[in-house]
Amino acid sequence: MLKGIAVSPGVAVARAYCVDSVLARREPQYLNAAAVSEEVARFDNACQAAGREMDAIIARVSQQLGDEQAAIFRAHRVLLRDPALVGKVKSAILQRKVDARTALHEVLDEYAGLFEKIKDEYLKERMADIRDVVTRIIAHLVLDETPQIMAGDEPVILVAPEILPSQAVLLEKFKVAGIITEAGGSTGHAAILARSLGIPSVSGLRGILKQVVTGDLLAVDGRIGLVHIKPDKETETAYRKLQHEYGTLRNRLVENRDHEAISQDGTKLELLANVSGPTDAEMAVRTGATGVGLYRTEYLFLTHPTVPNEEEQYAAYKAVIAAAPNHTVTIRTLDLGGDKLVPYFGHEREANPFMGWRSIRITSSYPEFFQTQLRAILRAGVHGKIELLFPMISTLEEVLALRRMVRDTTSQLKRDSIPHVENVPLGIMLEVPAAALCIGSLLREVDFVSIGSNDLIQYVMAADRDNPKVAHLCDPFSPPILRLLNHVIRACDRHKKPVTLCGEMAGRPNCFLPLFGMGLRRFSMSPAFVPTIKELARC
Ligand code: PEP
Ligand code: MG
Repeated sequence: MLKGIAVSPGVAVARAYCVDSVLARREPQYLNAAAVSEEVARFDNACQAAGREMDAIIARVSQQLGDEQAAIFRAHRVLLRDPALVGKVKSAILQRKVDARTALHEVLDEYAGLFEKIKDEYLKERMADIRDVVTRIIAHLVLDETPQIMAGDEPVILVAPEILPSQAVLLEKFKVAGIITEAGGSTGHAAILARSLGIPSVSGLRGILKQVVTGDLLAVDGRIGLVHIKPDKETETAYRKLQHEYGTLRNRLVENRDHEAISQDGTKLELLANVSGPTDAEMAVRTGATGVGLYRTEYLFLTHPTVPNEEEQYAAYKAVIAAAPNHTVTIRTLDLGGDKLVPYFGHEREANPFMGWRSIRITSSYPEFFQTQLRAILRAGVHGKIELLFPMISTLEEVLALRRMVRDTTSQLKRDSIPHVENVPLGIMLEVPAAALCIGSLLREVDFVSIGSNDLIQYVMAADRDNPKVAHLCDPFSPPILRLLNHVIRACDRHKKPVTLCGEMAGRPNCFLPLFGMGLRRFSMSPAFVPTIKELARC
């Protein structure tokens, strides 16, 4: 039995399916003579697919961010055609009959050895480019293998080093009963995804991939963060029973979806949903959320093969609005950085990514790119009722600049006679302690506030929210957190500005009472949690 971090509640009993990280080594596979030419063809196909992917990235990045940002991908494209690299891999497959992945790892080792001897720092860094290209090819080889392994009808428990945003499609495509990972905390993108899909999940299980192999029976308890590896018959039966009961309880709770969200003493509540796309938005309606309190638009960018253009963004935002008719949709502008990375904003590794170039700081550096998103949002707004939410605000100057940018974008759309919405309510996420402390001055410039407790807690406690070694410090009940939340809720009350809490604590039953006691009335959470919080409030 292993103890990790409880990430997404629920119970699952199923067989393991181990997803090794794309670059993880595995035992070399030796091929029989008949399979060799097929493996070369598989390698060629993977290279071609990687090439097509890169061509599309180059075109989009140059168009939306400029030629300079695309230069790195051009260099990678050249590497992909490098006869030395391609030749080495093919001859390993043909002569030593190893599979393409093994051959690529060997080539990578060889280059790493050579680059180690280089003194020049700039040239040394080019190793990262080779690693990138090889990873891309391997990713296509893995993609080619995955469907066959997971084609069965039986649901599986994914065991992975971590779940990358780009692997999110796997979760929707296959029957995934549970997810357990080595890395990641309870507020990372993978955790949010698991919760929104209602998949039980446990993270922070160091070394799990050394203890579990594909096919092992596992029992996952996402409520308390426990994993049983090859449970005995008694444990298995107990967990299967729990799994059944949990499902029944969830179905029963959803029956309260048409009940008003109201506390026992008659206070009206707004229970809103956090969504990442139309599927979640549909689920929000099904579970009885009264609106979308947080639409995380970055998933569109994280899962897009290149960079979504204005039309694609417009279609995506419109689809979410359509999936939640008659509900206000609060659309948050792009919140990248930290653990949510896309390759086109440069390759520099930052020492402190969560305190570095993230979120509004990135988008503000690319005004044209940012305006494309604003245009798409304001255009989509004509199909429903929207609000605009800016993440990671630290200063009043940032808010003023953003207001100006929205004004300019609106004038642009007006000038071009493109249908759009005007006077959209503008809100900010309170995630940076500086903004929370000086909330009074910010409230004069905004229409509403949304407390991003996931980030706020990690910044107040100086403890990375996804680092299992310090996760215990990110306790929503610690006095400094409660004090700051109370300060913000009271300030919003005084200024008569709506305040929502949209971090993960909004969906935690044990956090409801303290927040309600402080006067919070608007809670935004994974749709799956809405029925539970509604039930809790009523009793
Ligand atoms: C938060 O920080 O609480 C939040 C809702 O934003 P995200 O989890 O997407 O960073
Ligand atoms: Mg945040």
